[in-house]
Amino acid sequence: MGNFIFKNCGEISYGYSDDERLNNGLCYGFSTRNGGVSSGPLDSLNLGVNRPDKRENLIENYRRFCMAVGIDYHDVVLPKQVHSSVITAVTAKDRGKRLIAPSDLPDCDGFITADVGVALGIFYADCTPVLLFDTRVKCLCLVHCGWRGTVRGFAETGVITMINDFNCRPKDIHAVIGPCIGSCHFEVGEEVKDEFDKAVLSGYIKNGKKEGKFFADLKGANREYLLRAGVDEENITVSGDCTYCMKDKYFSHRACGADTGRMAVIAKIK
Ligand SMILES: [Zn+2]
Repeated sequence: MGNFIFKNCGEISYGYSDDERLNNGLCYGFSTRNGGVSSGPLDSLNLGVNRPDKRENLIENYRRFCMAVGIDYHDVVLPKQVHSSVITAVTAKDRGKRLIAPSDLPDCDGFITADVGVALGIFYADCTPVLLFDTRVKCLCLVHCGWRGTVRGFAETGVITMINDFNCRPKDIHAVIGPCIGSCHFEVGEEVKDEFDKAVLSGYIKNGKKEGKFFADLKGANREYLLRAGVDEENITVSGDCTYCMKDKYFSHRACGADTGRMAVIAKIK
């Protein structure tokens, strides 16, 4: 099991795993909200292209963050996320789409590639970002899991897509589950608890203080789906950070309101 740690590059700080096999094959980072140029609720490193941010701010934020991580922001492709179970395969011909160029890609919540010419990005602000990398085949997949995606096993869908479409083997896959809202703060109602129970994830939901309220563990549930898909426990790194608890470090939809910014995970095969 790797440790989720941070690296500072000037005003930008990004999270990553200390898993060396992963770091040998990949440039990647999970952003925080600090070190950017956006203001108001988007203060300051907003990376959400669906936010009401000035275009020049967004581009400058991506330029700064990508430079810190070691990626050229012109190479980044971004999705239109819709809480789907769709993963889109992309290649170098898709670089820049939805950041510096229009996109003809289908709406989706995950990207997959084996092409060194494109950098993948997804964004989030309480939802769970999951990075998957096969160190043998050198196939990269990013998925964005809200609670619905989590109980639908979207993280496992990522692994299955890697196996079916890129000849990956689960034992070669290394995973990072990034910062998201923790079980300390993700309070949900009966309807979410029912879905957790149906997905045999009852161990990842506990009673809240109020009647009919519960606390759900998104990171634990996503990790569970990776294990079910055959990923080795040793190869999974989980961030300990709760975006709600740490709202000075992260944008949090629940802690900061609906108009808050978005973090991103950006990754590119070396
Ligand atoms: Zn919390």
